[in-house]
Amino acid sequence: MKAAAFDYTRPGSLKEALLALREHDGRAKLMAGGQSLGPMLNLRLARPPVVIDISGLPELRTVTRQDGMLRVGAAVTHAEIEDGVHELLRGTPLQQVAPGIAYRAIRNRGTLGGSLAHADPAADWVLTVVGLGATLEIAGPDGVRMLPADGYMQGAYTTALRDDELIAAVHVPVAGPAGRWGYYKFCRKTGEFAEASCAAWFDPSTGTARIAVGALDGAPRLLPQLAARIAQQGLPGLDETLLADELAGVMQDKDEHHRKLHGTAVARCLAQALG
Ligand SMILES: Cc1cc2nc3c(=O)[nH]c(=O)nc-3n(C[C@H](O)[C@H](O)[C@H](O)COP(=O)(O)OP(=O)(O)OC[C@H]3O[C@@H](n4cnc5c(N)ncnc54)[C@H](O)[C@@H]3O)c2cc1C
Repeated sequence: MKAAAFDYTRPGSLKEALLALREHDGRAKLMAGGQSLGPMLNLRLARPPVVIDISGLPELRTVTRQDGMLRVGAAVTHAEIEDGVHELLRGTPLQQVAPGIAYRAIRNRGTLGGSLAHADPAADWVLTVVGLGATLEIAGPDGVRMLPADGYMQGAYTTALRDDELIAAVHVPVAGPAGRWGYYKFCRKTGEFAEASCAAWFDPSTGTARIAVGALDGAPRLLPQLAARIAQQGLPGLDETLLADELAGVMQDKDEHHRKLHGTAVARCLAQALG
């Protein structure tokens, strides 16, 4: 199938993009890398009258350091993060995660913000931002609002974004020298979405201890009790019963097989972070 006819516009600034969104009253579609939107247009699951191309917006293409956080523009691509094009991202958890997303051709175009806006429950950035305790910078007609990643995704393909808003950037913490990151996912083959995934982030300098599991039916979920135990005791604190109980609480709709798969993803992720 081919996409239904639509108009195409490529604004030159964030302000123009927001005006275009407002003008079309929730019926326009933003396009960043087009890797998820393209198939949706071709399958006619999306039939917007106009597509607003934000992939080149300068405000969405930079990486800077602000108030002890990295501000990563929403239109930075997976490949740019993987390749360390932006010096500030070299050696960060984001650079570690990027090469495992899809295939290189998709990483060349797909963007951080596009992935978060699409909100596939199995997507890598969706889990990463929750694991890191990142904050989303959301631009709208009334200015910018900052939204913790924890509450941003409300369900599968459903987020707290309003029709007249877009993700401008993601603010991620900068690791202290003792910061430890782990990321593990099960995929049937390279380039496929995860069946089970886990992100873990420990930074004693800020008292941060986070373990998040992804590839659930909806948003990623945190395992706070296990994270607190691991922060105190290190890997020996990986209590199988606590892990199973906490997973059961966030995976009520999943069967035993999936709980075991997630349990193994958590154990391997923690071993990677702290082993
Ligand atoms: C074969 C295949 C395999 C894949 N495998 C993986 C994988 O293993 N892991 C993974 O994480 N992802 C995977 N993906 C998804 C990929 O990472 C996409 O890049 C991503 O989902 C969408 O990013 P995009 O920039 O292309 O967004 P687009 O396709 O341009 O847009 C997606 C949606 O987000 C909206 N949008 C885009 N940017 C913004 C913004 N800044 N603010 C608000 N709304 C916005 C659009 O309106 C649209 O609704 C895969 C995709 C394909 C096709």
